[in-house]
Amino acid sequence: MPLMQKLWKGLVCAGVLCLIILGTHGNFRTSLLHHTSATSQAQAAAFADANQNACVASLSPQIMRVPGGVIDITFAPGRFDVPEATVLAWVRRAAIAVSTYYGHFPVRHTRVRIVPVEGERGIFHGTTYGEGGGFTRIPVGEHVTTEQLDRDWIMTHEFVHLSFPDMPRQHAWIEEGLATYVEPIARVQARQLKAAGVWSDLVRDMPQGEPQAGDEGLDYTHTWARTYWGGALYCLQADLRIRQLTKNQKGLQDALRAIVAAGGTLDKEDWQLEQALRIGDQATGTHVLEELYAEMKAQPVAVDLPQLWKKLGVTTRGGQLVFDNDAQWAAARLAITGSPQAAPMTVASNREDETAAENQSRP
Ligand SMILES: [Zn+2]
Repeated sequence: MPLMQKLWKGLVCAGVLCLIILGTHGNFRTSLLHHTSATSQAQAAAFADANQNACVASLSPQIMRVPGGVIDITFAPGRFDVPEATVLAWVRRAAIAVSTYYGHFPVRHTRVRIVPVEGERGIFHGTTYGEGGGFTRIPVGEHVTTEQLDRDWIMTHEFVHLSFPDMPRQHAWIEEGLATYVEPIARVQARQLKAAGVWSDLVRDMPQGEPQAGDEGLDYTHTWARTYWGGALYCLQADLRIRQLTKNQKGLQDALRAIVAAGGTLDKEDWQLEQALRIGDQATGTHVLEELYAEMKAQPVAVDLPQLWKKLGVTTRGGQLVFDNDAQWAAARLAITGSPQAAPMTVASNREDETAAENQSRP
């Protein structure tokens, strides 16, 4: 049985553990979500890498203050070629992107455990748990480069997971779909990515979310493609429907901010999906999230993506992506990736107390 099937078959829903396995080259992403006992797994992961090599020194723990939250950062034993400050800047960039999208960091306190991987390059996978406000464990190759950290999307993806309640496996598509859809948009809004590149990637990758033969809807088709990109397709359609109904005054972002404001974050294990969607809909004055869920949850719903891109003013001419700002829905496209505020939050800070300067005693 392939590894992915084995893991899917072994799912136990008692809390969230999102495990992403990915390639380290270019834009290749292979991911899966694994539900298990969050508390025991998070603690086991933290203790395991804390004790794996007691002879090797660890980098200093840090407390990072970000808008609306605090991130406790610890390192498993090991080292990096790049300075510690470069690794911390990578975490801060991801936190700023998510804070920009949601208006503030989604939880008041979370923990990040960075695990140096001897002899390797790149960022390998992330795992985020809901316990205690949140805990993300993320292995990073000791030879990771500044460029790889600058390009990385995984840390932002993991932080997006903090912004929605813990869901059972049946609804894994909403958790992974949101993280897949929001991550690049958040980075554009924080001016860490160019909008053109994000739309280009969406045009390339979104077809993976279309239902294939035998599909039984998002709640009942637990393939990688339908979980990540099927969920992202739900998000894109929801965003566009909300914008059409509200004359582009509201979008999915407003709904997601409302869910966080109502306390719908990953540390909540007793929320129903319908409850979160209802709160989101109330924020936009529509029923888009609930109605779209009813449409897509138990049956395959194909989306005419070529037509959708055309309406958004994203077309291909001679192999090049061309943007048409006179297209029917061009304003919606511009609003989705536009900055929600006049002055986006910045990555760097001149204030010493905001730049991860405080050391903690080691565990
Ligand atoms: Zn994920």
